[in-house]
Amino acid sequence: MTYSLIDTGANLAHDSFDEDRADVLQRAKAAGVTKIVITGSSDSSNQEAAKLAELHPRILYSTAGVHPHHASDYSETSDALIRELVQKDVVVAVGECGLDYFRNFSPRDAQLDAFRRQLEIAKDCGLPVFLHQRDAHDDFVEIVESALPDLSRAVAHCFTGEGESLHEYVAMGLYIGITGWICDERRGQHLHDIVAVIPDDRLLIETDAPYLLPRTIQPRPKSRRNEPAFLVEVLKTVAEAREQSIEHVARITTENAVRFFALQ
Ligand SMILES: [Zn+2]
Repeated sequence: MTYSLIDTGANLAHDSFDEDRADVLQRAKAAGVTKIVITGSSDSSNQEAAKLAELHPRILYSTAGVHPHHASDYSETSDALIRELVQKDVVVAVGECGLDYFRNFSPRDAQLDAFRRQLEIAKDCGLPVFLHQRDAHDDFVEIVESALPDLSRAVAHCFTGEGESLHEYVAMGLYIGITGWICDERRGQHLHDIVAVIPDDRLLIETDAPYLLPRTIQPRPKSRRNEPAFLVEVLKTVAEAREQSIEHVARITTENAVRFFALQ
């Protein structure tokens, strides 16, 4: 079966792809992943992601933002760079940005400040936001809720939370990004049970490559590196968990990605 899938979050600027990026793109295409949105998460990856996207127009796109892990590095330069990059046609969202209190690689104050500043950029430029949240639910909801009236669209990327927060996000009108986390029979079982809560028009799928290699992949690549071609595993697992056909989930997630990122 051939699909036309969109990987809505892949860290293709990551150096683990430096050796064989062209092969990775070729395998994605062969697997039916026709478009990929490259996640920017730091000053350098934002630049690299946009550069890559410009080499493959209408296939690759990028986002520009600073991940909460790097929030301490959020400077005037970072802010100006994101504002500059969002002017480019290939840059389709602000982010990833948000809050991550799981490891607190950056202090919470720095995270809150960087997050609010990036939401301001999204408001100013009108692009959607690509949101990251881990163990920071209350602060996250408070900030996002107050920003939402001025934002075009927002996605809770790599959603791994519980049913309660999923219901809350859906009620807020957020899109929900599901990764290969759902393919993990140990820590992803709860997602399997609740993914049907997401309305058809709010569901996005992503690999978050090179992270989160789906555990359903057989045989498992020695490198343990995830790549966009494996989006098909996410698609199949999500379809099964939602008791919908693979074709249906392929169609709605692609339509949603095109609408969310206003892809041309
Ligand atoms: Zn993330």
